[in-house]
Amino acid sequence: MLKDLLLRWPLIQQIRTGADGTGAEAMSERTRNLRPKNQDAEVTRSICPYCGVGCGQLIYHKGGKLISIEGDPESPISRGHLCPKGADTYELHTHPGRLTRVKYRRPYSRRWEEIDLETAMDMLADRVWESREHTFEETRDGESLMQTKAIAHLGGATLDNEENYLIKKLFTAGLGMVCISNQARI
Ligand code: SF4
Repeated sequence: MLKDLLLRWPLIQQIRTGADGTGAEAMSERTRNLRPKNQDAEVTRSICPYCGVGCGQLIYHKGGKLISIEGDPESPISRGHLCPKGADTYELHTHPGRLTRVKYRRPYSRRWEEIDLETAMDMLADRVWESREHTFEETRDGESLMQTKAIAHLGGATLDNEENYLIKKLFTAGLGMVCISNQARI
């Protein structure tokens, strides 16, 4: 028992093998059993949402749970690199300080109240639809127009490539909005 323990000791292994102490002989049992966190995870390709550079990201997930977000070595734009902002994208999804409720100030009120996201989304949808109903122009000067300029959308830095695609598709093709931009483009 004691002999086994001594034989596993890195110093003894180094003396026995004549190695220089920088290889496997320096590893403890715990180090030998460590595995990469991404091992056996599925990977999905995406693009960093933070700016217009558009660095490639690999999204590692296992059983529906996010494991990590790394730079994509095959991206011709970033070749595996992410700047400090992009390298922190993981926390967009996982940080306990993320806001999950919405601040709302009613008309003429001087105080903010918290409402849940689902209620806020319903209120937004109602208002967007109402504005569109009042302002949508089907024609102008006898020409087909099919647009409204009364509603605009400015996307934030945390919208990813796929979300921006859906936003553009829904708001322009679906609602006729023409004023759509994104922080990443600014
Ligand atoms: S924020 Fe950084 S990692 Fe993300 S796209 Fe811009 S440069 Fe690339």
